[in-house]
Amino acid sequence: MSNIRPKHVPVTQFPVRDDCLQVGGFALPRLAQRIGRTPFYAYDRQLITDRVAFLRRHLPEEIHLHYAMKANPMPAIVQHMAGLVDGVDVASGGEMKIALDTPISPEHISFAGPGKSDDELSCAIAAGIVVNMESEQEMERIACLADRLGIRPKVAVRVNPDFELKSSGMKMGGGAKQFGVDAEQVPSMLGRIGRLGLDFEGFHIFSGSQNLKVAAIQESHEKTIQLGIALAQHAPGAVRLLNIGGGFGVPYFPGDEPLDLGAVGENLRCLLPEAKRQLPQARVVIELGRYLVAEAGIYVCRVLERKKSREKIFLVTDGGLHHHLAASGNFGQVIRKNYPVVVGTKVRGNAREIVSVVGPLCTPLDLLADQMEMSQAEAGDLIVVFQSGAYGLTASPTAFLSHPPPVEVLV
Ligand SMILES: *Cc1c(COP(=O)(O)O)cnc(C)c1O
Repeated sequence: MSNIRPKHVPVTQFPVRDDCLQVGGFALPRLAQRIGRTPFYAYDRQLITDRVAFLRRHLPEEIHLHYAMKANPMPAIVQHMAGLVDGVDVASGGEMKIALDTPISPEHISFAGPGKSDDELSCAIAAGIVVNMESEQEMERIACLADRLGIRPKVAVRVNPDFELKSSGMKMGGGAKQFGVDAEQVPSMLGRIGRLGLDFEGFHIFSGSQNLKVAAIQESHEKTIQLGIALAQHAPGAVRLLNIGGGFGVPYFPGDEPLDLGAVGENLRCLLPEAKRQLPQARVVIELGRYLVAEAGIYVCRVLERKKSREKIFLVTDGGLHHHLAASGNFGQVIRKNYPVVVGTKVRGNAREIVSVVGPLCTPLDLLADQMEMSQAEAGDLIVVFQSGAYGLTASPTAFLSHPPPVEVLV
């Protein structure tokens, strides 16, 4: 085994001109001037378009692509995405409202997540979107609400599979979970769906997130399709929807390698004919959040002060954990690792040094880069955190310490 420290894969999606990062055709300082203040999140619309095209090239044509919008619910992004993907998956009444403002037709919007309120369910039923039911109690509530509204609700069963997605950053299926209905309980629930007269669409089987291992994703696709086919025998009608989840990961940390999407697509090409034979009416959906947006976004903050403490250099910035919890290492990571961070105004720089980038919060957790090599920065320089288009602003505790929130722009 080599003991060379692992590195970040180079971030190449944003061009560099005169040693300055370019975003959406703007040099970074010019974009900062246009926005008028730091910190901000900037998302590149062309990169999102390119990413969806890349998926279309590698996945079988029959696959329907959905955007799981909790990764980035900025309305401008969801609107842009609506012109590229086949559907949107929402996880709250607030997200549902944004999705319904897009041209995506309601039958291609689905609503998953535990703990849906009666108000949220009523709105979803009236909107005609598909409710992914997470429990039998939720099914009974939907039936009552639908009765009162006089509308036949579109429903799918979210299944908690009897297997786990291996090597997943976040497991969301297998074992005991708050998500979905245990696979062994699904047949009896399907009987009840028939008796209640709900408009049965199909199954939603999502087993985990942030996976970079092709073999694990391939295995999960195979088992998911098998499970869908097996459960379909108990369905009250034809299966019209088989959502096989997503979980495609992006490289955030040193040593992470990009997912081999070609191999994922090849495997699906082998699996789909059988799915089609057994479930001829089913559209097969893959739902992705971070894979569509994470690499198209950056977080930008400004160096306020360069400080030396006992031989270590700290760049004190106006941005931090309150805006970007994930980059600080406090959003579900067990061991803190650095996101790729650069000085956006001196990407290569003349002199390089090891520094820590910190924010203005009075806690040692407020750390955007810990002892990273970057070019020598001064007060006024702009620091860029890459891979920040997903689970950034809306996954951060913006009220903590009462600083103003960052701006978001889609360029
Ligand atoms: C969060 C979530 C996703 C998106 O996960 P990513 O890792 O961002 O792709 C997809 N489906 C469901 C059900 C989710 O809860």
